[in-house]
Amino acid sequence: MEQPSALEARTYGNLIGGEWRAARGGDTFDSLNPARRSEVLGHFARGSTLDIEDAVSAAVAAQPGWQRTPMPLRAEVLARAGRLLEERKEELGRLMTREMGKVLTEALGDVQEGIDMAKYMAGQGRMPVGEVVPSELRDKRCFAERVPIGVVGCITPWNFPMAIPCWKLMPALLAGNAVVFKPAEDTPLVAIRLAEILVEAGLPPGVLNLVTGLGDEAGAALVSHPRVRAVSFTGSMEVGNQIAATCGKLGKRVSLELGGKNAMLVAADADLELAVDGALWGGFGTTGQRCTATSRLIVDRQVLGDFQERLLDRVGRLRLGDGLDPATDVGPVINSKQLRRIHSYTEVGKQESARLLTGGEVAEEGELSLGNFYRPTLFTDVRPEMRIAQEEIFGPTVSVLPAEDLADAVRIANGTRYGLSLAVYTRDLSRAFWAVDRLESGIVYVNAPTIGAEIQLPFGGVKGTGNGHREAGTTALDEFTEWKTVYIDYSGRLQRAQIDTGQG
Ligand code: NAD
Repeated sequence: MEQPSALEARTYGNLIGGEWRAARGGDTFDSLNPARRSEVLGHFARGSTLDIEDAVSAAVAAQPGWQRTPMPLRAEVLARAGRLLEERKEELGRLMTREMGKVLTEALGDVQEGIDMAKYMAGQGRMPVGEVVPSELRDKRCFAERVPIGVVGCITPWNFPMAIPCWKLMPALLAGNAVVFKPAEDTPLVAIRLAEILVEAGLPPGVLNLVTGLGDEAGAALVSHPRVRAVSFTGSMEVGNQIAATCGKLGKRVSLELGGKNAMLVAADADLELAVDGALWGGFGTTGQRCTATSRLIVDRQVLGDFQERLLDRVGRLRLGDGLDPATDVGPVINSKQLRRIHSYTEVGKQESARLLTGGEVAEEGELSLGNFYRPTLFTDVRPEMRIAQEEIFGPTVSVLPAEDLADAVRIANGTRYGLSLAVYTRDLSRAFWAVDRLESGIVYVNAPTIGAEIQLPFGGVKGTGNGHREAGTTALDEFTEWKTVYIDYSGRLQRAQIDTGQG
């Protein structure tokens, strides 16, 4: 089936074995612009078990040839993909804003993260892939090298439609795996554009297969397919834990990047203007729909009043609107289900007797009624045990919690089941390091908000946020490779390790 390139509501297929094909069942689903629900970006193949079967078969057939392709040549494909992403950055950013809603500057940043990852992984293609280690025996060499896992499944959320797929696909492909990719059902078109670019960059047929569809259909079929040796998942804790249980039963490898309940700690000596800038960007950037979003502000009582006043003023000035409008600060939320969920947390906060300072309602004036807009919402007098301080809301809702001192703030910050990103604002270097040593999260920032990861460093969380894996940085390859240890004995006689050591 021909793959349309114009941005119009056309029907798009799955990429299987190098061909774009309709779903075997013939069903489709739509992707809508969250700023204007009547705008349909396209009709997408609703993949099922049958399509996953086809995609996995294509991947199994293609993987050995890709593995035998020298790594620097595999890296060349990624480098070319990076250049194509760069050439099309503006167009892809605009498409992303229409499909996912984030403001254009942020969408361009999301594409840039994909470009960065492509270039970084291309560079890794000529880096060491193992270790040469001395043997305890004479005339014997030992080394250990990374090898691909085989066929891997990548399942991604909608909030970073380009960056997160690139975080998974680039290292998985560089390592020599074949991939079956199931993107989020809210952002299939950006995923299709990425797959097209990788194909255009020279990826052989079947090495990357893309199946669009729903989580409990295509997603679940991918997770449980016996030929898929590893699953890389980013998404909610609920789905992640379900996937981990399935993978546990089937004995396959799984890496999880799940939610967060991230906090910014504001010490009594903090630069308050800087902290307010950070809270605004961390809390309401991407409409609060980042796994690292700053959803709790834990503020020393000594500066609470001052901080809150400044923040409230700034939140009141945030402009809601279509992300393509340069005047917009905060875009829509992804879909109407999420809009209802965010509002239900406002009701929970009120019932828990947190004090609503601003927002707390769906925005419906003028053109906003056409999309999924929620007013930037600020609660104060929030206690650590309240649900709005414990559960991930994934929207423009931020809670202010008072703290007695920095030690109390650290205790509150650590008191959730998540452990992704925490930030501390202080002018005192000793206090900053004191906090860094005690904060329980995979990522810690000092004098910067909880968002803003760079691709050359490990990314991931502790506690309920993940299962010990890290994406990005050189650690990205851990997720997508096995180790093979090789011993070569050229002594011409039987040498027994631990027994003949020191002889001859
Ligand atoms: P989600 O868990 O609903 O969906 C994520 C993906 O999983 C989608 O592609 C979906 O189709 C698929 N899926 C759903 N049910 C499935 C099933 N039973 N089997 C297999 N696949 C299934 O999450 P979402 O709403 O798309 O994204 C928001 C969540 O993602 C938030 O919790 C956020 O914190 C998290 N997130 C985490 C990170 C991180 O790196 N830690 C980054 C971004 C987003």
